[in-house]
Amino acid sequence: MDLIPYATQSINDDDRAAVREVLTSDWLTQGPSVPRFEQAFAARHQVANAVAVSSATAGLHIACLALGAAPGKAVWTSPNSFVASANAARYCSAEVDFVDIDPATRNLSVAALGDKLKQAERSGNLPAIVIPVHFAGLPCDLVPLRALADRYGFKVLEDASHAVGALYDGQPIGSRYADASVFSFHPVKIITTGEGGIVATQDTALAQSLQQLRSHGITRERDQMQHADASAGAWYYEQQTLGFNYRLTDLQAALGVSQLQRLDGFQAARERLADRYDRMLADLPLRLPAREPGSDSTARSSWHLYAVEVLARPGVADRATVFARLRAAGIGVNVHYIPIHLQPYYRALGFRPGQFPAAEAYYAGAISIPLYPTLTDAQQDRVVAELRQALVA
Ligand SMILES: *Cc1c(COP(=O)(O)O)cnc(C)c1O
Repeated sequence: MDLIPYATQSINDDDRAAVREVLTSDWLTQGPSVPRFEQAFAARHQVANAVAVSSATAGLHIACLALGAAPGKAVWTSPNSFVASANAARYCSAEVDFVDIDPATRNLSVAALGDKLKQAERSGNLPAIVIPVHFAGLPCDLVPLRALADRYGFKVLEDASHAVGALYDGQPIGSRYADASVFSFHPVKIITTGEGGIVATQDTALAQSLQQLRSHGITRERDQMQHADASAGAWYYEQQTLGFNYRLTDLQAALGVSQLQRLDGFQAARERLADRYDRMLADLPLRLPAREPGSDSTARSSWHLYAVEVLARPGVADRATVFARLRAAGIGVNVHYIPIHLQPYYRALGFRPGQFPAAEAYYAGAISIPLYPTLTDAQQDRVVAELRQALVA
């Protein structure tokens, strides 16, 4: 019996040819492929600047730094995310706090954010940055979030790791409403470069800071120099801040350019499979993914994940049982996410169970079932049949 994973990459002959071409060129890194990928990504996402980095985690780290995360500053995010969304703020020694989710969208609740901001204003500890996470590819409700950002003066850093190709207000995620948006190209995500990420921003000065931070804090641009005089030759560069080696290689970027050309096809395949799941699972004791983030009925998920919630009802098996049965049947299900505040590292910072009840309730029933562009209808039928059986107590 073949195993059906919850997610997997799709690599074709064009992708392989693109990487092979770089291998026979003069540049494995810091060559022409990275700017080509950045420009193609920026054009596709209708954003002025795209800064390629070695992972979304690296991108979140330097974006937090560039947006002002520091000791004594607070950064808020969703508990229903991968730990990297919160860890990025901890790398900058900022304080992390969470905002509970909307049970329908599983995204950070903008209403809960509004309440928490009111309290924080009274006690004088407003956040410097809020990191919404477009869970499973469904956009957060960005219009009311932006209104809160403007009123309370925090920056919006989108963790758009799931959201390559998603639309909000008719436009690609990353083009509006956020100060910066971070995308991931890990193999389970929408497009892949093996490891890799991009920080997108309309703010060109911010993009310059990010370019420095991804490469040791160094600039080679004459117009950015602080001490260059006329005698400085072409060797001259300046390290102006403490940065990192967070560069993407040309091998990875060439794969990214090729994958980006396939994005429309990936998107259509994911949408079709998600529609099919919606129809085939409608009569089961499950809560299915929401289609709309709130105020915007034109939003479109990128369908990174198809996460169902097993409803606790008489005659229905519990989540752990359903999960174990599916794994035993060769269906590679997963759970996204264990609420971040329940991780031992965050408990040691003072967080405890019960603090973010909507995220905890969602987690108690959550199972991500297989969704990727090359999943066949026959495989999907098998997933549904196994799930139907597994749900019987
Ligand atoms: C995958 C993921 C990340 C980290 O991405 P990497 O590219 O693996 O560093 C961060 N946040 C979320 C929500 C993710 O799903």
